[in-house]
Amino acid sequence: MFAWRSIRGAIATRENLARRGMEVDTRCLICGDEIESTLHMVAKCEEARLIWYTSPLRLKAENYDGSNFREWCLSVHKTCKDLSWWSLFWSIAWGIWLRRNGWTFSKKLMVVQEVIGRAASLIGEFNLAKEVSSINPPAMVLDATWKPPPLGMIKVNSDAAKISNSAVGFGGVMCDNVGDVVVSTCLKMEGAFEVDVMEAMAMRHALQITLESGFSTICLETDCLKLFSHLKKATITSNAFGVIVNDILNLSRSCQVCSFSFVKRTGNQVAHSLAKLCNIYSDLRVWLEDYPYDVTQFVLADLSHFVA
Ligand SMILES: [Zn+2]
Repeated sequence: MFAWRSIRGAIATRENLARRGMEVDTRCLICGDEIESTLHMVAKCEEARLIWYTSPLRLKAENYDGSNFREWCLSVHKTCKDLSWWSLFWSIAWGIWLRRNGWTFSKKLMVVQEVIGRAASLIGEFNLAKEVSSINPPAMVLDATWKPPPLGMIKVNSDAAKISNSAVGFGGVMCDNVGDVVVSTCLKMEGAFEVDVMEAMAMRHALQITLESGFSTICLETDCLKLFSHLKKATITSNAFGVIVNDILNLSRSCQVCSFSFVKRTGNQVAHSLAKLCNIYSDLRVWLEDYPYDVTQFVLADLSHFVA
């Protein structure tokens, strides 16, 4: 905020206050020699120059012979574009402004070294805060209802259901940005698997059908938080689950765009009911721009959430 306001000539220096019509003595409050413009206050005033020169930046503010603060910043920026350097530049500039205010309002004048020390520790605190926020990302808000993908993208929802002790069903449904079903599928498979393995197999099946149908800008959505998180972080464990996660990641690389998303079970009902339908169909089924009658109520329920 300080950078933005000072560059636009909007901070309350004496010169700016006079320009706004206030009757004030425009002389610098610290040296009393010159008009307190932004450039003078931040860069040219004797102690400000000392601060810049003794700081790690080693700036010689007196080398600039123009009269515009913004121009001075640009001339400084030309000599060094390093981001950490630039952060320190603004922390010091802000520190000089706070020092000036301390003097103006409570007649306390911070010593030069303190301004520099505070600016440096401000950057340290800022970097630390960024690290902490990347370690503890804000709690994820979990969607409970199905939402259509952005225009041009196909959302692929998948789910698995246990059919019997020795058979599982996989369901997959692909929808466009208005919620129209472009492909739906179900596949029955003999065997017994862990729940997370089943979920991953269901997604792999849905992804294969999606790719075979010619879609390559897709978002893969599951109601299995573990699967979502492993895909998102590309974590491959050394077990059956990891093998299938790896398959999905490999297949996803042949897409133009492939993202992953999570939805609660309540938002994954179409895929879930397709998985259960494997009871009826004993082999692989794929419906293009269609879906079996039995899942209609769930397709309509999804539509009603976002159309409303
Ligand atoms: Zn001065």
